[in-house]
Amino acid sequence: MASSAGAEERLVVVGAGQAGGWVAVSLREHGYRGTITLIGDEAYPPYERPPLSKEFLSEPVPAERMAIKAASFYQDAGIELRLGQQVTRLDRHRRTLSLRGGGETRYDRLVLTTGARPRRLSVPGGAAERVLYLRGIPDAERLRDALADGRRLIVVGGGLIGMEVAAAAARRGLEVTVLEQAARLMERVLPAQISDHLAQVHTAHGVHLRVGAEIRRIETGPRDVRVHLGDGSVATADHIVAGIGAVPNDELAAAAGIAVGDGVLVDEFGATSDPHVYAAGDVARFHHPPLGRGIRLESWHNAQNQAIAVGRGIAGDRRPYDEVPWFWSDQYDVNVQIAGAAQGWPDPVCRRDPRGRGFTVLALRDGVPVAAATVDQPREMRAARTLLARGRPIDRAALADPAVPLAALVRSDRDR
Ligand SMILES: Cc1cc2nc3c(=O)[nH]c(=O)nc-3n(C[C@H](O)[C@H](O)[C@H](O)COP(=O)(O)OP(=O)(O)OC[C@H]3O[C@@H](n4cnc5c(N)ncnc54)[C@H](O)[C@@H]3O)c2cc1C
Repeated sequence: MASSAGAEERLVVVGAGQAGGWVAVSLREHGYRGTITLIGDEAYPPYERPPLSKEFLSEPVPAERMAIKAASFYQDAGIELRLGQQVTRLDRHRRTLSLRGGGETRYDRLVLTTGARPRRLSVPGGAAERVLYLRGIPDAERLRDALADGRRLIVVGGGLIGMEVAAAAARRGLEVTVLEQAARLMERVLPAQISDHLAQVHTAHGVHLRVGAEIRRIETGPRDVRVHLGDGSVATADHIVAGIGAVPNDELAAAAGIAVGDGVLVDEFGATSDPHVYAAGDVARFHHPPLGRGIRLESWHNAQNQAIAVGRGIAGDRRPYDEVPWFWSDQYDVNVQIAGAAQGWPDPVCRRDPRGRGFTVLALRDGVPVAAATVDQPREMRAARTLLARGRPIDRAALADPAVPLAALVRSDRDR
């Protein structure tokens, strides 16, 4: 569909990460004729972050290999890429952006793709130099150096990123302790069967897991760092890496009077409360029509596909973004994939024995699949995503029977 914007329109994207890059790409691919400027405060053209908590920690991965497009693409596509520049203020009435170090940029339409940042440890001593966080390439370089220098690592937070770092460190031969305050690992995103399975895998690799751990304070010595726990014990390491969640970078929008609430609030087209401003990616809390509520996702899939949908909509082809949430994690040689938005994994159905290699868990609400998680079953995940997108009741007995391929359930559901 042709762009509704004229060549004189000026569109600015703030945040040159994965989502920002894809908004710009999508605008051009869908015929947008206006000026596109992509402003980001990092030194690299838009790149994908998943390798940073995985292979990057063992060996250098060139930034070009993580880039969503070759650097030359932007020039060829007529996208002005302004790197190393931070936007400090958004004036909605004048439609201008202020840059750190001075200067202003005008926009007709604006897309906020400012992502999220790691939540910081708020306990005393949490700001110490030996406490590391992971979001961008410089963080991952620092962490990789720390893994090379040290013998012992404490991972605070047993979420996906924390457990990927634990796996990378254990593989490098470090003594790894994971401190998780919840009763099990990755509790927020995974069903108990998969948490338990991954706990066994980590334990088999020598990782020391402590769930229900309450961190009181952190003390830094000349050569090590000590975590004092609620039960009076002390864990010691050379470095700590904290993976305790992310905070959306929604301050620019909030200060400008745009509606926020743990993220910039947008509709299914990415539109904010200001008709000239859109948002996508980790920073956006969007209305998800099938779920009937707002969600904010921190995943590769959402950063790419929501951004593409927002770019396409601005270019004139407006279609609601309603894809089933999907993300993955790689720990050692184990691939985990999660789809849907379960909120507690109701009525779980487990296909195959979780003690074996490769199984699937589906959650049902009123007989309808609402979420799925797989361990080393990428093909089942593809079928599960189709079932989730359809949102129809399913034959529970057939679902629980691993002899019935999930793809067959997809076919029989289609033929009904
Ligand atoms: C270490 C790591 C591993 C991950 N692994 C996986 C995985 O295995 N699977 C999966 O599904 N997902 C994974 N993710 C999640 C996925 O990478 C994110 O969801 C995705 O990067 C979000 O893209 P985004 O563009 O919204 O945000 P970001 O990629 O964070 O980009 C936002 C950009 O905006 C910039 N910015 C912010 N404020 C300003 C400002 N005021 N001015 C200028 N620039 C600004 C930021 O510096 C950043 O460059 C991982 C994330 C991390 C951090």
